[in-house]
Amino acid sequence: MSLRGATFLDSVLQTLKRAIELGGYPQEVYEILSRPQRVITVNIPVRMDDGKIQVFTGYRVQHNNALGPYKGGIRFHPEVTLEEDIALATVMTFKNALNGLPYGGGKGAVAVDPKKLSRRELEELSRGYARALAPFIGPEVDIPAPDVGTDPQIMAWMVDEYSKIAGRNVPGVFTAKPAILWGNPVREYSTGFGVAVWAREAAKKLWGGIEGKTVAVQGFGNVGYWAAYWLIKMGARVVAVADSKGGVYNPNGLDLAAVKAVKDKTGSVINYDAPGTRKITNEEVLELPVDVLVPAALENVIHKGNANNIKAKLIVEGANGPTTADAEKILHGRGVWILPDLAANAGGVVMSYLEWVENLQWYFWDEDETRNKLERILLDTFNRVMNRWNKLGTDKVTIREAAYVEAVDRIYNAMKVRGWI
Ligand code: NAD
Repeated sequence: MSLRGATFLDSVLQTLKRAIELGGYPQEVYEILSRPQRVITVNIPVRMDDGKIQVFTGYRVQHNNALGPYKGGIRFHPEVTLEEDIALATVMTFKNALNGLPYGGGKGAVAVDPKKLSRRELEELSRGYARALAPFIGPEVDIPAPDVGTDPQIMAWMVDEYSKIAGRNVPGVFTAKPAILWGNPVREYSTGFGVAVWAREAAKKLWGGIEGKTVAVQGFGNVGYWAAYWLIKMGARVVAVADSKGGVYNPNGLDLAAVKAVKDKTGSVINYDAPGTRKITNEEVLELPVDVLVPAALENVIHKGNANNIKAKLIVEGANGPTTADAEKILHGRGVWILPDLAANAGGVVMSYLEWVENLQWYFWDEDETRNKLERILLDTFNRVMNRWNKLGTDKVTIREAAYVEAVDRIYNAMKVRGWI
């Protein structure tokens, strides 16, 4: 199932409409936020290894900059569409606003399968994209970062290309760069860390703490692995993990380092074998008898077909859009807490903000200091969302709706004092 194109945009706009209603904001807020401010389409010619020119189409959607420069990732994927890019840029406006960052929202995309390009072709394409967008981005204008299909190496090529055009080093124009090129090592685990912090704080309210609580994680990539790592460090018991091939379950808890070693060696956690551990499918991982469920792989995996089989009392959305609106209604009705993506997986963009601050001042914090700053911002967001949820009525609205109201509130106030509405 896919959450692409019109469907995704429709559901984002529906939640926006509901937030405007709940917060009592004027209809003009919807008129402005339901459309991006600027859409840039670029066509990038790349000389391929076979000597022929191939032209790749890309976009940069600049949704809203009431709170500051546009910020959001760049996706390299064969099925990207402009509609999907608009939806993702819109979500970034809310995610950045919710977390108190001085940013608006943006998102970029190139229709390409990066796995099918040679390293040289990928570098050419990345540099071509940065060149085409150079007049429209910058540390005070629009600051892209990686997303699906892009990584710190691609950011390094892009920052180098932009810097050549500018005639000086401009580290703050892209974030999540390699540490040697003004990145920060905390970025690697920041999203998973944020997921764990949100889970820990919610667990304190639900049960008095996360210690000893059982956790299942779907997805064992950047977000899933690091969420599991930090949850264990915080005292939780991770009993199941799954990747695209399936998963493993041990009610007494998994040896995460051993599972990771098997994944790195064989390509999947499914090959992990230890006493008391059994194999499960990647649908089963969602329905285990656990306290906490972390979907950290794909969108739409929790839907009305399986919502009633979910036993976790707390769902922490590591992935973007893992829960459909129908499923959320069912789960909210059953008293399950769903910590929404724009809050629970914001650790990455908050860390990008800290990296950008470092870049602007050419001054760098050590790892502990960086992580403490990151955690402080995440805790502030958590407390604001919980207060808003309690005010709006926990039985009447979902945590996602409360988070959207909190985000729209900041954007609305910025637009108001600017005189836009
Ligand atoms: P990744 O590519 O590193 O990992 C994805 C994982 O999901 C892999 O382990 C893959 O095997 C697994 N997977 C794929 N299909 C699956 C299935 N059907 N069942 C179970 N597992 C499956 O990606 P990532 O960076 O960890 O991103 C995961 C999600 O988190 C995406 O929705 C992404 O948009 C979101 N996200 C990522 C970040 C970040 O900083 N990396 C930030 C915010 C949101």
